[in-house]
Amino acid sequence: MNTNCVKAITAMCLGTIFSPWALTAANPDDRYNAWPTYSGTDLELDATAQRANFRLWSPEAEAVRLMIYPTDRNSKATETIDMKAADNGTWTASLPGNYFGKFYTFSIKHDGKWLDETPGVWAKAVGTNGHRAAIIDFDTTDPAGWDKDQGPAVDNITDVVIYEMHHRDFSVDPSSGIVNKGKFLALTEEGTHNPTGESTGIDHLKELGVTHVHILPSYDYNSVDEANLPSNQYNWGYDPYNYNAPEGSYSTNPSDPSARIREMKEMIKALHDAGIGVVMDVVYNHTADNDGSNFSLTAPGYYYRHRPDGSYSDASGCGNETASDRKQMSDFIVNSVKYWADEYHIDGFRFDLMAIHDTETMNRVAAELKKINPSIFVYGEGWTAGDSPLPAERRALKENVAKMDGIAVFSDDIRDAVKGHYSNAADRGFATGKPGNDETVKIGIVASTAHPQVDYSKGNNSKFAYASSPTQIINYVSCHDDLTLTDKLAKSMPGSSEADRQRAARLAQTIVFTSQGTPFMFAGEEVFRDKKGVHNSYKSPDSINAIDWNLKHKNAEQFEYYRQLIKLRKEHPAFRMTSAEQIAKHLVFDEKNDENVISYTLRDHANGDAWREIKVIFNGNPKAVDVKVPKGNWTVIAEDGRINADGLGTSRGGKLSVAPTSALILAR
Ligand code: CA
Repeated sequence: MNTNCVKAITAMCLGTIFSPWALTAANPDDRYNAWPTYSGTDLELDATAQRANFRLWSPEAEAVRLMIYPTDRNSKATETIDMKAADNGTWTASLPGNYFGKFYTFSIKHDGKWLDETPGVWAKAVGTNGHRAAIIDFDTTDPAGWDKDQGPAVDNITDVVIYEMHHRDFSVDPSSGIVNKGKFLALTEEGTHNPTGESTGIDHLKELGVTHVHILPSYDYNSVDEANLPSNQYNWGYDPYNYNAPEGSYSTNPSDPSARIREMKEMIKALHDAGIGVVMDVVYNHTADNDGSNFSLTAPGYYYRHRPDGSYSDASGCGNETASDRKQMSDFIVNSVKYWADEYHIDGFRFDLMAIHDTETMNRVAAELKKINPSIFVYGEGWTAGDSPLPAERRALKENVAKMDGIAVFSDDIRDAVKGHYSNAADRGFATGKPGNDETVKIGIVASTAHPQVDYSKGNNSKFAYASSPTQIINYVSCHDDLTLTDKLAKSMPGSSEADRQRAARLAQTIVFTSQGTPFMFAGEEVFRDKKGVHNSYKSPDSINAIDWNLKHKNAEQFEYYRQLIKLRKEHPAFRMTSAEQIAKHLVFDEKNDENVISYTLRDHANGDAWREIKVIFNGNPKAVDVKVPKGNWTVIAEDGRINADGLGTSRGGKLSVAPTSALILAR
């Protein structure tokens, strides 16, 4: 099991595209392609009050047993059933009677040995620590009004504002004033506030104005012991165990399989009622365990890629990588996200290390989800954390995003150019005064699409316009990985004041939120939260990860800046163009500027904006610079570290001074 594997390197953008070793050696995985596959959606369990039908896919099993248990642990099987070989590599058993409330596992005989019991790969309800699957009546898990529940309508992903959060970070600190700390239910509590009266929880999200929360993994993961929750273990959750059931530690009662399901739905409904969508972070690229995973215990070998010597290949950096290029695994991913969209009303999916998956599977994911709900969107990390047998041209890399319809990728271009390199703590970027980043910031501003004034040969991370549309790009300067923006600024601006660093954070996020593409922010940066300099806090205690909501009072001006920035973006479609052609036509850079100064105009009512013209100027220098703006009657939107979407004042244009480390935005 490798839970830590990883997260130090998943932020990595691998500039090199590896060539697969499979081209020169016999592929040990070829035999799996001959296995029969099963495309039905009744895999593993289909239960009513009158009977329970089981169907396990395991083409090479020599025999399969089904065990029925009265409880989720510490009990003996009350029935052991030999399953019968059926069609397409499946094994079936049908039990008459009402089995609601019971638990089950499977065991397969492989190479003459009975393997460990497993809840299977399609357990939709599980007990403590997910070791046994549960048979429940899903109708009893729906909150009141669930049949009418729906998330916000989204025409284009560029219209959304994504807020990346972790259940525990967001609510566990005493300053949150929330009762259900670290639980799904935390986000159902209205009227919560910090000791000085500022809103927290879901009210805070509404006040900030984000459209979607992206919540770190909420499926059942491996690391936190659900039988010992008072020990307050923390984990990000990038160690998948049961992909199709919620995590127990976020439930008020992990031993009640229905509780985690009902409470997660209540959270989603509360967010939907507040007009906020829910993005699920999904990690189909690897499993927490290798031979002991539910994949390995049901169909040994099949779901993973291997090296020529038969060992697990490891593009995830976690000890294994799954094989989306194989039919049953591809179907698993597609059917799993469809299940979450259908049963839980999930509004979007973020794919961890998406480039481990093949572009064909990702295209199926996007297309199938759109059939369920056209507002659903999909994005992911367009890189791997190591080499893979999957040929580079088939990987869902950011460089291949133009081959994927309805999929967006994170822009490491804008991320590193604005704040400095993600892993070199001392490195600075455009917003902290380091020269050499201007062209890469411009790549970010045009969402990596082709633009006549952007020279991709000068890009730091990418050398070509890899996006065919701004809807394929997620812009950000920080996320759960690596240093928070607050910590990055502290490490890269030694000797600076906190006011200087907050100013740099405002400039950095102003670049993100005015750029074409989709903006994404890490929870708590609106109150200037930090993680005490810990860059890989995947299992750090609450003292590192929890957001201290007293900061909302202390840094009230920072919060107000973010709130206005989001308001500006939401009110003005010029920042949310939907095609590369629109951007090339309506976004015009000024050609002559000092180093570390970028200015551009959004002209001619871009994307139907009420404003005819918007002038955006970024000064990354620690000194004021002069810029020329056409004379006229302008409304000042942002100036000298302040912003108001309705205007701070007026300007006649001409030669204007832009304050150090700040954005000047004018509109008319
Ligand atoms: Ca778990």
